[in-house]
Amino acid sequence: MTTNTLSSSIEWLDRLVAFDTTSRLSNLALIDDVQNYLRELGIPTRLTRNDEGSKANLWATIGPEDRGGVVLSGHTDVVPVDGQEWSRDPFKMHRENGKLYARGTCDMKGFCAIALALAPEMQRRRLKTPIHFAFSYDEEVGCIGVRRLIKDVVDNLPLPRAVVVGEPTMMKIIGGNKGGRAFRTTVRGVPGHSSEPHRGANSIMATGRIITFIEDLQQELADNADPDSPFDPPYTTFDLGVIEGGTAHNIIPEYTHLNWGYRGLPDEVPDVLENRVRAFIAETVEPKLKAVAPHAGVTTVLRNTTPPLMPDVESAAEQLIRHLTGLNESSTVSFGTEAGLFQQAGIPGVIFGPGSIQQAHQPDEFIEVSQMAECVAFIEKLMDWAETGA
Ligand SMILES: [Zn+2]
Repeated sequence: MTTNTLSSSIEWLDRLVAFDTTSRLSNLALIDDVQNYLRELGIPTRLTRNDEGSKANLWATIGPEDRGGVVLSGHTDVVPVDGQEWSRDPFKMHRENGKLYARGTCDMKGFCAIALALAPEMQRRRLKTPIHFAFSYDEEVGCIGVRRLIKDVVDNLPLPRAVVVGEPTMMKIIGGNKGGRAFRTTVRGVPGHSSEPHRGANSIMATGRIITFIEDLQQELADNADPDSPFDPPYTTFDLGVIEGGTAHNIIPEYTHLNWGYRGLPDEVPDVLENRVRAFIAETVEPKLKAVAPHAGVTTVLRNTTPPLMPDVESAAEQLIRHLTGLNESSTVSFGTEAGLFQQAGIPGVIFGPGSIQQAHQPDEFIEVSQMAECVAFIEKLMDWAETGA
C-alpha cells in the first residue's frame, strides 16, 4: 500500500461526510458527486431511484461488463445526530490521535471512500473479474433502497459472484446476521374526562399491556436460548423504540402509537413471534377496548422486514475473503445488514469492513486511520486477484 492511497481515501472520506445524508434527507448531491467522478474516469454507472426521485442507489462496474464480479457494497445514508452531544460539527471531518471523527465515518462512508479512492487504480489495471460498487440509500431505515438496486442487477446484468458489505467489523469476517421485522401498532381507545375513566378506554394503559407482553416474551426467549448459538445475545431480541400517546393528564388518551419489532436468529420462523403478539392483542387487549365502543381497537402494520444473512462458510464470498486475507474464521452479528437481501437474490455475501460497530450511531463517531489502512490493503489484494482472473 502506498501512503498515497491511504491519504486519498481519507480525502474521500472528508468529501463524503460533508454531505448530510441523514436518511430523512436526499442523498442526490453525494451520488452526483460520485457519479461525476466515476464518469471522468470512464467508469460506467447506473442509478435506481426511489418513487419520489429524491434518492438514488449507484451501481458501477470496473472491468469487463459481460460477467459478474465482486461487489463492494456500502450505504450512503447515516443515522440522525439529533439529540446527541457532539464535541464538533458532525458533518466536517476532524482528525485527532489517529482517529477520523464525523457522522458516518465508520458507518459506513469510510468503506465507500476507500473504494472510490482506489477506483482510478482499478480502472488502470486490466481486471479480468470486474469489481462493482453498490452504494445505496435508506439502509438505516430498514435496508430499503438496496432492494431496487438488487432487482435492477438481477433483472438486467450478469449475476455477481460475491458481495462484500463493508459495515464496520474491524476487518473480521462476519458470515451471518439476524433478520428482523418492524411494526407500528396503533391503539385506539375512547376519549373522555379523566375523572370518568369508566366511560372511556385508555389507549396508553392498553398499550402498556402490550409492552408487558413483549417484555415477558423477551424473557421467555432469553430463558430458552441455545448457549451454543454463535449470536450475541443468543436469542431473538425485541426492539421497542418509540411510543407516542396522550395530550394532557386530564384527558383519557384516545390514540397511542408504538414502534416495535424484533431481530431474529436466522433459523427461526419469523411468523411465530408476530403471531403471538397479534394473538395476545386480539384475545386480551382488544375485547376490553371494544366493550367500551366498537370503533375502538388495535391495528398493527408491518413496516419492514429484512432477511437474515444465513451463515455459509462454503460460500464464494466467504471463501474469497478467507483466501485473500488468510483469515480462517468467521462469526456473526446481531445488527441487520443488506447482505441477507443479496443472499436472497442469489449473490453470496459477507460483512467485512473497517471500523467498529461500537462507534456506529454514537456521538463523536470515528474510524481509526489504522482500520482504513487495513481496508486499503485488502482492496489492493482484491484488485490483484481480479487482475489475474482467479
Ligand atoms: Zn451501516
